[in-house]
Amino acid sequence: MLTRRKFIRAAGLLALAPYLDVRGEREIWVNDIHSQLNRTRVSALLTPRTHDELAQAVRRASRDRLPISVSGCRHSMGGQQFATGSLCIDSRQLTRVLSFDRERGLIEAEAGIQWPKLIDHYLEAQQGVTHQWGIAQKQTGADTFTLGGSLSSNVHGRGLAMKPLISNVESFTLINAEGKTVPCSRSNNPELFRAAIGGYGLLGLISRVTLQLVPRRKLRRVVEVIRSDEATKRFAERIAAGFLYGDFQFSIDEKSPDFLKVGVFSCYQPIADDAPMSATKRLNDDDWLDLMALAYTDRARAFQRYADYYLSTNGQTYWSDTNQLSAYLPNYAQTLREKIGSKNESSLIITEIYVPREMLGDFLVEAAELLRPGRVPVIYGTVRLIEKDDESFLPWARESYACIIFNLLTIHTPAGMEASAQAFRALIDLAIARGGSYYLTYHRFATREQVTKCHPQFARFLALKKNYDPEDRFQSDWYRHYRAMFA
Ligand SMILES: Cc1cc2nc3c(=O)[nH]c(=O)nc-3n(C[C@H](O)[C@H](O)[C@H](O)COP(=O)(O)OP(=O)(O)OC[C@H]3O[C@@H](n4cnc5c(N)ncnc54)[C@H](O)[C@@H]3O)c2cc1C
Repeated sequence: MLTRRKFIRAAGLLALAPYLDVRGEREIWVNDIHSQLNRTRVSALLTPRTHDELAQAVRRASRDRLPISVSGCRHSMGGQQFATGSLCIDSRQLTRVLSFDRERGLIEAEAGIQWPKLIDHYLEAQQGVTHQWGIAQKQTGADTFTLGGSLSSNVHGRGLAMKPLISNVESFTLINAEGKTVPCSRSNNPELFRAAIGGYGLLGLISRVTLQLVPRRKLRRVVEVIRSDEATKRFAERIAAGFLYGDFQFSIDEKSPDFLKVGVFSCYQPIADDAPMSATKRLNDDDWLDLMALAYTDRARAFQRYADYYLSTNGQTYWSDTNQLSAYLPNYAQTLREKIGSKNESSLIITEIYVPREMLGDFLVEAAELLRPGRVPVIYGTVRLIEKDDESFLPWARESYACIIFNLLTIHTPAGMEASAQAFRALIDLAIARGGSYYLTYHRFATREQVTKCHPQFARFLALKKNYDPEDRFQSDWYRHYRAMFA
């Protein structure tokens, strides 16, 4: 077996030393943040700081026939960002904002930038300006996501009438398998534009992204507790009344008849630009940890406290962009274990299921029956809406769906993992029975039949990847799993 030093020498990687994580003979292991279930050994970890360093790394790997994997903030949970034995490129040093066109609301930044820095930059640049620009959407539940990672999963937020992130991307710069720079937009290399967004890093490395911003708005939060069988109708009413964002966070108490059937319905309505902003209550890290600890140990109280908190914020005002920022502790799993005195190693795995909106109530009734035994407790769950994505090559939003998100507590034993995998597959089956689908980002537990039904483009996506990258320069364990599945 090659030692790391020999590997580096054999691969000619010494030329990349300034941004190579050289740790002598030590093994390099990487893992995802949220589930901590994708521990992967890579051969080298590169942290390029510029577009040229990124391109140089690809050219060198291409010359030496080495596989490359690319990671952002490591929040995906199916092994999309790591490939065993690969050169893993950590993009988080690519953080500069390159330009901000205040006339057109276009902002260009390097792909390793995370949302808070991007937002800070344009807020600073627009201080004192009356009509400001802001992001349309980002993920909820955490902020430490890179732009590159967000494009590659084609993410969404809690917009009530928004398509996934592709709809906010003006253009990006890709480094292809030969290390060449390829500009991508709807008019320039449109096929690559459509395939790399939502393409999980398999078409090339995204080095820069230009986002189309939207007018920043002041919003008022309107909160109610409603039943899930009326959620679809209530969402439609909110949209008709001009509300822009919203979600429905359902009861997680499997012992209650309200489990998944009652929830906190919070929507955000634009208000006048000159309306005063009220002082706002926000959940800080400690509040968030307390709520999570309760959700692990007493889900009835956790939901009650959550609902009380939200109801107490009814009428508060927020900015449309900063309101999408949220507390998240990357080491939550360990901290919670210590806080509640649990011996079991555990973490949360997320899944996101899509169903036609009129089927939401019915889906939640069946999902409640499925999850009620509590073998895999629901720690958090919410419903949002998505508009049909008619652009990306591998679209997850094939229709205008209701999106149901479950955070399931998973014990890190073979039995615990299997219980979660079974629950995820069963939830996907409930979606399929209703013409729905699921998100590829969170795990790779789906069977081939489920993948094919929910993502009918998948085999064509793998073929297209081969067209652009015949030598499989860009890889991940996620890709290897599906390459074998569809072989
Ligand atoms: C707590 C939590 C909340 C979440 N909430 C949401 C949500 O509300 N909505 C939603 O849509 N998703 C959500 N997600 C999923 C998340 O948006 C995706 O996993 C996203 O891809 C993570 O970005 P990242 O920077 O961590 O990328 P990583 O997980 O590191 O990578 C994700 C993918 O992007 C690729 N990639 C990264 N950088 C580049 C690059 N420069 N060029 C090419 N490919 C690249 C990787 O290879 C990989 O395939 C959530 C995840 C967690 C853990």
